[in-house]
Amino acid sequence: METTRQEQLRTAGLRVTRPRLSVLQVLAERPHADVDAIVTAARALHPTLSPQAVYGVLEALVSGGLARRIEPAGAPALFELRVGDNHHHLVCRSCGAVADVDCTVGAAPCLTPSDTAGFVVDEAEVVFWGLCRECRVGTPAGTAQVDQHDNRGGASG
Ligand SMILES: [Zn+2]
Ligand SMILES: [Zn+2]
Repeated sequence: METTRQEQLRTAGLRVTRPRLSVLQVLAERPHADVDAIVTAARALHPTLSPQAVYGVLEALVSGGLARRIEPAGAPALFELRVGDNHHHLVCRSCGAVADVDCTVGAAPCLTPSDTAGFVVDEAEVVFWGLCRECRVGTPAGTAQVDQHDNRGGASG
């Protein structure tokens, strides 16, 4: 499995370089990372790497089809290696956690809009917004009070 990253780069027509391998490794370890997180992690692997170099590598990986950029509204762009399967994302409004969602029925029904307006559609991106489990558990709003009716001796007669 160690050689696959190099093969991936070659298959995409990209030269195999240390920075590219480092960024691929970072993306493999942290799916849906934003650029800042990727720069920090890549520089930990490869201290001479400049942020500009990391940006350049990300651009090359995205345009080479090895990485995917997702851009939830109002959030920084996120990068992942899971490409080509047209999966979608759940994004937490509170903490920004991101989870993958597969297209559930057959072959990407989301690629069939009711009206394509003459477009040839090759990708659909759906972002489901909500609160992740941890943020839901953390909210004190759900303090359910159990109403205990005391029915002892209620019935007369
Ligand atoms: Zn959350
Ligand atoms: Zn994803």
